[in-house]
Amino acid sequence: MEIDVKKILLDNFKIDKSLINLSDTVMEEIEPYIKELSGITEYNQLKVIQSMISSNVGDFHLNDSTGYGYGDIGRECIEGVYSRVFGAEDALVRPQIVSGTHAIALCLFGVLRPGDELLSVTGEPYDSLKDTISGENVGSLANFHINYSKVDLADGKPDYKAIEESISDKTKMVLIQRSKGYSLRDALSIKEIGKIIKKVKSVNKDIVCFVDNCYGEFVDTMEPSEVGADLCAGSLIKNPGGGIAPTGGYIVGKRDLIEQCIYRLYAPGLDKDCGPTIATNRLTLQGLFLAPLIVGEVLKGSIFISRLLEHLNFDVYPKFNEKRHDIVTSVVLGNPELLISFCQGFQKAGPIDAKVLPEPWAMPGYENEVIMAGGSFIQGASIELSVDAPIRKPYVAYIQGGLNFTHIKLGTLLALQEVIEKGFLHLPIKTNDLS
Ligand SMILES: *Cc1c(COP(=O)(O)O)cnc(C)c1O
Repeated sequence: MEIDVKKILLDNFKIDKSLINLSDTVMEEIEPYIKELSGITEYNQLKVIQSMISSNVGDFHLNDSTGYGYGDIGRECIEGVYSRVFGAEDALVRPQIVSGTHAIALCLFGVLRPGDELLSVTGEPYDSLKDTISGENVGSLANFHINYSKVDLADGKPDYKAIEESISDKTKMVLIQRSKGYSLRDALSIKEIGKIIKKVKSVNKDIVCFVDNCYGEFVDTMEPSEVGADLCAGSLIKNPGGGIAPTGGYIVGKRDLIEQCIYRLYAPGLDKDCGPTIATNRLTLQGLFLAPLIVGEVLKGSIFISRLLEHLNFDVYPKFNEKRHDIVTSVVLGNPELLISFCQGFQKAGPIDAKVLPEPWAMPGYENEVIMAGGSFIQGASIELSVDAPIRKPYVAYIQGGLNFTHIKLGTLLALQEVIEKGFLHLPIKTNDLS
């Protein structure tokens, strides 16, 4: 019997026939690009397996601890695996780190002291870090007399000359954001990150080069520590948690810096030996094991989204045939109502909360109202299919995650179907003959 995928999309999901036909065309077009990705996935999968073998992971490491968490050999083993996978001296992988923002804040507060300066070399850092850096009366870096300055990107690329010129004798730490975050710039390649670090170290080798690695893990075959980053942080409900880790964050890097971060996480004097894992060791490890595969699915999905939306004349970043450096696909929708419909359509594909209608809201830590469509097994997990959009010009939807390609494809089709039904896109679809 022939498998009729079209019929189920048409009859059960009520997706318009012309949209399905376009999707089929896109599938053919993207095939060679998807094939290229499989090398990265396989490489990273082998790297993770080898790190687990070298760390002698045993069945007993999957157990957890309570209370102070002393003698948690599972936690120690996982931190060893992370160090190996990321090519770093040491690692902290903890359920007490609640998010990427928290992991990054630990690195900033762990390393910087009054009078020091933090220099962001990739423009304004991710929205949620504003309060951490410059918030009023919240115990921000500014409140502790730690200065901040930034070097903007030039045409979306690192401005090496301006970076060199902006370093002063106060500069203690340089912040490099790998992913594009909520902006339209390209994500940085590992090569570019290495080049920035080299430049910074050539001015002063003692400057701590810190990478916000959120959304970047396993997109390439190397991680920032392998090109000289001193410290690097991210969230376990993004890439490295593989959709399985229920919460947590990680920091990898130089041993002495990791020590400073742990004093900030717990208390000065409370070191790596404490920190209960409660019920996370098995899930953290299983998530890491699956992460290369899941990131590969997300990247395939990203290529599909880009090509489909390019056909419909939307501005998409990155283009379908450009190399990915993070897991975010940005689509410029240009109009707030269209943006909201697009997100609401996406929500309809959720395995969880498909019938919830997402609305823009004032999210803590973000400047504009944000609409978030998702429906994830783990609250807020953006390695699961999700669309975030700050309600501000030029009305861009940031699409990320997806635990399997079919789901990402369905979400995109339902988003466009909603846009068609709301009258923002007209049938029959006028496609852009891109050739
Ligand atoms: C998601 C993200 C963060 C913040 O992580 P949360 O887990 O949402 O707090 C920081 N930087 C970048 C680039 C991100 O993508």
